[in-house]
Amino acid sequence: MTTASRESHAFKAETKKLLDLMINSLYTEKEIFLRELISNASDACDRLRFEALTRPELLGDDELQIRLEADPEARTLTVRDNGIGMSRQEVIDNVGTIARSGSRELMERLQREGTPEGVAELIGQFGVGFYSAFMVSDEVEILTRRAGEEEATRWRSTGDGTYELEPAERDGRGTTITLHLKSADAGAGIEDYTDRYVVSRIVKRYSDFVIYPILWKDRREEPEQDAGGKPIEGKTRTVTEDVVLNSQRPVWTRPEDEVTEEDYAEFYKHVSHDWNEPLERLRLKAEGRIEYQALLFIPKEAPFDLYYYAYDYGLQLYVRRVMIMDRCAELLPRYLRFVKGVVESDDLPLNISRQRLQEDRHILQIRRWLTRKVLERLRLVKEQDEDKYLAFWRHFGKALKEGLASDFDNKDALLELVLFPSSHDPEKLTTLDGYAARMKSDQEEIYYLTGESREVVESSPHLEAFRDRGYEVLYLVDPVDELVVQHLMEHRGKRLKSVEKTTVKPGGKEEKEKIEASLKEKEEQVKDLLEVFEKRLEAHVKQVRLSARLTTSPACLVGADHDYSPQLEKLLHKGQGGGPKQRRILELNPEHDVFRRLEERFAADPEDPLLGDYAELLMGYALLAEGSEPVDRVRFNRLLAGVLTERLGN
Ligand code: ADP
Repeated sequence: MTTASRESHAFKAETKKLLDLMINSLYTEKEIFLRELISNASDACDRLRFEALTRPELLGDDELQIRLEADPEARTLTVRDNGIGMSRQEVIDNVGTIARSGSRELMERLQREGTPEGVAELIGQFGVGFYSAFMVSDEVEILTRRAGEEEATRWRSTGDGTYELEPAERDGRGTTITLHLKSADAGAGIEDYTDRYVVSRIVKRYSDFVIYPILWKDRREEPEQDAGGKPIEGKTRTVTEDVVLNSQRPVWTRPEDEVTEEDYAEFYKHVSHDWNEPLERLRLKAEGRIEYQALLFIPKEAPFDLYYYAYDYGLQLYVRRVMIMDRCAELLPRYLRFVKGVVESDDLPLNISRQRLQEDRHILQIRRWLTRKVLERLRLVKEQDEDKYLAFWRHFGKALKEGLASDFDNKDALLELVLFPSSHDPEKLTTLDGYAARMKSDQEEIYYLTGESREVVESSPHLEAFRDRGYEVLYLVDPVDELVVQHLMEHRGKRLKSVEKTTVKPGGKEEKEKIEASLKEKEEQVKDLLEVFEKRLEAHVKQVRLSARLTTSPACLVGADHDYSPQLEKLLHKGQGGGPKQRRILELNPEHDVFRRLEERFAADPEDPLLGDYAELLMGYALLAEGSEPVDRVRFNRLLAGVLTERLGN
């Protein structure tokens, strides 16, 4: 190859930073570099096998395998696979740039909170794939050829911020990574990675379950033999032999008592790319008309993009030891998208298409079964270890709640798991059953209030009367809660009712009627004043009336029975970029001094211009109190400034 075709490229800035960190970090477990390279090689074989389902010519008849080869004199270690390989552009995109979201998140965290001492631990948590090779190497070389292409590419870097790229030749498809190793240095945690026993131990420890054979080219000196089979004195020859280093038995296929916690932990890292320990592990086996087994994990922490619409999820699907899909979303409902793991079934066809997956009877059956099992396990955790469950809930509760709006078959199971904050105990969350058990004997409805946050909901004027009388109110402060209440409607025969939509103070039937009657009477007396208000606010509210729900606040906005809650309306507006606003009902507190004084003003002069201004101010107040914005902020502020000035007198 001529040097003319060799090009030098700079790493993307963030990649360079990550590399520097890797190389200079005090990270002790340097040996994980091998796990990362083997894991990439195994992924490359999986991907080839997957592409070959539709293009069998790519696979040919080679057995997929990973080869390790060391040269102690040259101090190199080579990891070679005959997987999918990379094109030149793929090398630039995948290796010159941080493609993986985990690495990007790691960089962000390092920038935010990274202290030199914290670095090692953080790197351990995230893992950084290929770059970890630079922890043990002075130079790394990649020779790769994409399946189906003729040309190969050589990539080379010393990790100093640039890499070289040139066209090359390679026998057949796949990737060869050659590490020019640093010298072994016990103090720095670098062992001799050309030593068979060192390498073999590392492979056993981290990569035993990899389903492709990991081969080691063993070199031995043997005495040379003469024609009669006798060793010739003083003469030896080098014999090479392939040794398989891994058992290739995936953990989910091995008897439970043979699999250690460490095996599970390594396997979890492999399937999830999560470097924390999982929170829970489920090993499942179904035997019946069709057989399948699964090994699932519930992670400890939600990935940062779990709640993004585009979050890519799914379980690995194996058929007769062959992985046929990396992220099969059909195996779990979307609300359980945080679950990681594998499912294997021998009764599915090997070349099942995405399309068929969606309606496949077996897949549906597996999905129902897995869903039930995961929910059952969560219930157990909740019963047996509250703190653990709460930790789970903090990360995944919002996802689980989506199930209430979409999975009616498991509604009861989900209801046992779903938690809400409530006015009962500021420190604790409650289930709906917990709420029901505390309901007053005369209470006919389950009260809730939706809003942006616990703080906003807690200071809402709507809550005042409920709090005063000791009625518990659920605080529904996640956007998904709006969907939940719309689908749930009732629980154990009690309707779910927004306190923003009840018209009077809660209480027994008789008391309710009494309150309603006296309110009616009072409203009759102040009818004309309410009309002045209604007129001024016509564009925004459909009615102004008196309220029995308020104790300390002068006003609040409420909805009619079928209106959207303000929270939902906000969400709808966000989603669609506007839309028709609904007009609500302004309720005034007849016991409040502001109202009394307004009544006096009105009696003295029904035309007093201050009355209309107050109507607007009170509406603005009510909007702010529920966490919304005044309709016209500039106008609201001007009116407010006027009142403030007046208060100071002349
Ligand atoms: P990750 O494997 O977690 O995505 P890495 O930094 O280890 O992160 O690798 C970056 C990318 O480089 C991989 O996603 C893959 O596309 C590509 N790659 C790495 N090793 C190989 C390989 N042996 N064969 C084919 N592609 C590879």
